[in-house]
Amino acid sequence: MENKPLWTITGVLEWTKQYFANKGIENPRLDAEILLCAVLKCERINLYVRFDQPLEDEELALYRGYVARRANQEPLAYILGEKAFMKHSFKVTPAVLVPRPETELLVESVAKAAAGSGAAALLDIGTGSGAIIVSLLDLLPQALGTAVDISAAALQVAGENAAAIGVAERLTLLESDLFSKLPAGQSFDIIVSNPPYIPAADIAELAADVQKEPHGALDGGTDGLDFYKRIISGCSVWLKPDGLLAFEVGIHQAQEVCALCREAGLTATAVRNDYAAIERMVFATREGTYYANHLLEITS
Ligand code: GLN
Repeated sequence: MENKPLWTITGVLEWTKQYFANKGIENPRLDAEILLCAVLKCERINLYVRFDQPLEDEELALYRGYVARRANQEPLAYILGEKAFMKHSFKVTPAVLVPRPETELLVESVAKAAAGSGAAALLDIGTGSGAIIVSLLDLLPQALGTAVDISAAALQVAGENAAAIGVAERLTLLESDLFSKLPAGQSFDIIVSNPPYIPAADIAELAADVQKEPHGALDGGTDGLDFYKRIISGCSVWLKPDGLLAFEVGIHQAQEVCALCREAGLTATAVRNDYAAIERMVFATREGTYYANHLLEITS
């Protein structure tokens, strides 16, 4: 009779929870469950229903590989190859930032703004996985999107997400350092961006798994504000006079970003908080526009 220990679902989860906890993983039990579900192709509830089921050797081998990667601080989303955002699951690779829940609030606000104004032309700067623009086009069937990124590998992912979610025919993807490759003469009703905003010196202090994300998507220069300054200065050319600029910002940056917008003539500004009550989004437009008259609604 074979004498090797039988790894049941419960046994494996208990072991992994402890192992992850020792490695400093923030949600050890949850991550263990999510990875095991990926192996067993089931929902988390099934782990509880099938708690005493032993794992097959191939399942264990696959699971061990995932556990080793997570213990090495690889973000869960890279191991799974996907991340839920708004209504869909987005493909993610190490070439793109993992979409964050707070960024859904940015999408929600921009969608509300666009639906109210009838905005047709949207630009997403630094699109990464495409989570923002693809979600917006999904929510706004009349809208047309342009998404730029300096990373060809990111644009590849964004294109796949756009196709999977059925908005590819309304999205133009462009490999471009901010506005540099946009066709002259074009302008946008709404420019949205979640640019890199971490002050360069703070990158080394980020959680170990965040540091595995592309530094080009995180590093916002000395004060973290480099990209806001460059994007705001481009708005005189690329944002329609009655358009809206919508940013995600880093902690403690909202007021400074508002001030930069006002200096550039986008004098009607508003801030929206994230789930942790941190000032996380900045909206800016000229006085008298539809957006200026609806800032409260857009940001709540
Ligand atoms: N939200 C990311 C973080 O968790 C930063 C993303 C960015 O720089 N835009 O730190």
